[in-house]
Amino acid sequence: IYVNMKVPSKSFVIATNKSRVGGGLHLYDLQGKELDYLADGRMNNVDVRYGFLLGGNKIDIAVATHRSQKRLAIYKIDPNSQRLINITAEGLTLDFSPYGGCLYHSLQTDKFYFFATSKSGIIQQLELFDNGHEKVSATIVRTLEIGSQCEGCVADDEAGSVFIGEEDVAIWKYKADPLGGDSREKIDGVGNNLVADIEGLTLYQKDGGKGYLIASSQGNNTYVVYDRQPPHSYTGTFYIVPKGGVEGTEQTDGISVVSQSLLPHFPKGLLVVHDNRTSKGGGSNFKFVSWVQVEKGLKGK
Ligand code: CA
Ligand code: CA
Ligand code: CA
Repeated sequence: IYVNMKVPSKSFVIATNKSRVGGGLHLYDLQGKELDYLADGRMNNVDVRYGFLLGGNKIDIAVATHRSQKRLAIYKIDPNSQRLINITAEGLTLDFSPYGGCLYHSLQTDKFYFFATSKSGIIQQLELFDNGHEKVSATIVRTLEIGSQCEGCVADDEAGSVFIGEEDVAIWKYKADPLGGDSREKIDGVGNNLVADIEGLTLYQKDGGKGYLIASSQGNNTYVVYDRQPPHSYTGTFYIVPKGGVEGTEQTDGISVVSQSLLPHFPKGLLVVHDNRTSKGGGSNFKFVSWVQVEKGLKGK
């Protein structure tokens, strides 16, 4: 979810489509209307960060994993036209097929990183850099062996940590710094609140490090909520059910949330989820949920 800080109503959603034929990126406005479609290939996950220095100017970026071309796809976000401009440097290929991934912006060093996850359970942390020709390249700075297939992940820039979903096993927390080492902390395992696969992870971020870590629990169509702050205690579980002619979500997959007020529809923020079972033809699509409704659900109202 790209938040337009100046004109929140012009914020928009960037979504991936990894289908073999005609994969790419969908852009939707806050009403769910498609603004653009970039048929750039099999994109699997996408994430957004603000203030990357390119050619002396601070820009906002979206970075996706491109499965068929084994690379990152890097875009400059134009907030005014609500479009993406490809700024991927030539030759930016990886030695494995990236699956999921997430961005991390170190507030200590002002460097930007991308964690590329894989079906083999190997994660590569890449540092993004300006290649001097208005394009962005990346270099591998760290490799982590998670154990088995992992896709969803999310970094907490303020805390300097990254949460990784090992789909059949657990949510793990690592230090996000490239020198952070292999030590990790288990946030929750499959079998308690989570039913495999663990899919998307996202952070609802409030001031002072407060907020929530949310996991998409595919096996039981639920969203599992933990405290953003250590020790990341379990807070609750919610479902997305049909309302007002919009169906609920099943086989939940990727998720993303922001806490900023995106008036008029999302005063306490927006949650976007990938619904893998739709009534119309059985395909998949995205559902937009107001955080106001999530709060009510968590309080049991
Ligand atoms: Ca999966
Ligand atoms: Ca559905
Ligand atoms: Ca998935």
